[in-house]
Amino acid sequence: MIQSKSTIEMTKVHNFSAGPGILPAEVLQQAAEACINFDNLNLSLLEISHRSKNFEAVIAEARALVKELLGVKDGYEVLFLGGGASLQFAMVPYNLLRTEGTAGYVNTGVWASKAIKEAKIIGNTQVIASSEDKKFTYIPKNYEIPANLDYLHITSNNTIYGTQMKSFPKTSVPLVCDMSSDIFSRKVNGNDFALIYAGAQKNMGPAGTTMVAVREDCLGKTGRKMLSMLDYQVQIKGGSMYNTPPVFPIYVSLLTLKWLKKNGGIEWIEKVNQQKAATLYNEIDRNSMFIGTTAKEDRSNMNVTFVMHKPELEPEFDKLAKEVNLSGIRGHRDVGGYRASLYNALPLESVNALVEVMQAFEKKFA
Ligand SMILES: *Cc1c(COP(=O)(O)O)cnc(C)c1O
Repeated sequence: MIQSKSTIEMTKVHNFSAGPGILPAEVLQQAAEACINFDNLNLSLLEISHRSKNFEAVIAEARALVKELLGVKDGYEVLFLGGGASLQFAMVPYNLLRTEGTAGYVNTGVWASKAIKEAKIIGNTQVIASSEDKKFTYIPKNYEIPANLDYLHITSNNTIYGTQMKSFPKTSVPLVCDMSSDIFSRKVNGNDFALIYAGAQKNMGPAGTTMVAVREDCLGKTGRKMLSMLDYQVQIKGGSMYNTPPVFPIYVSLLTLKWLKKNGGIEWIEKVNQQKAATLYNEIDRNSMFIGTTAKEDRSNMNVTFVMHKPELEPEFDKLAKEVNLSGIRGHRDVGGYRASLYNALPLESVNALVEVMQAFEKKFA
């Protein structure tokens, strides 16, 4: 028996997990059903060919929805690959950095640093701006972008530190963006980017697939002999099926994107996300027990980081949080304190529950 939707909802855990993150309850229910009987085939999605017309329809619809939600024009291709966002740290330079060229990177945290590490192995790589001097608590601004770069790599949202780019660099250099933790959370113009990638498990679906949207005219220029699996052009030609793709994560990502569209799309979710983030940041700023860890103008609407004035009271706060079923609010091991991730599927109600606990904590211990 599949657990009914009402049973899932009754549990009422407020899930602030940073990733893999919360998915809509109805998506979990539909995903569970597809594991038993997909498309009324009396077969599981997990036991049919990825080349069946039923799965071809899934991947085609997922691709079309990504294009629609990013607003990209013709000339962009959408891929669903394995290997996580971390494989894209290597595939991006491998496919876009010419053997004699230079790639530019903005270093805004651990993920950006890992991307830089891979690019350096593949070719000339220049870090043109960094916020490492202040432990990545802000977004660098007003840096110069050399016009000769093959591309400029940025990270739109820094999951660990809780910073987010509120605007993107204006440049003629092709922009590449790791949007793993804020894709489809706010309006962006996809056409401003040569390539966008995002691991699904933060805001788009479950772990196991990474979405890549790439402007095709950027490809095939490196002068490098390419390994097939790591070649975007091979993957495009194969329709993300050069090998067997991660069928289940792609399907659940499609369900999540359909849920987003049905509820009002990016315009709707952007407003909801702004309201959730404002509610929590207002409380952090008001509450005498807590303090935000990032520059105010760069605060992320997805990952809200904060610490306590008296860290010795953390166990007391954790106890209160547990009593009302708040889950996943401990900060990343590199930062400490707290991090509440407010991904698309997290309702305002959960943020209100966290705020209430913060207020109760202040009353008791201030
Ligand atoms: C989580 C995350 C990654 C790593 O994703 P994997 O799929 O685990 O490789 C990369 N970049 C950002 C911004 C992330 O949040």
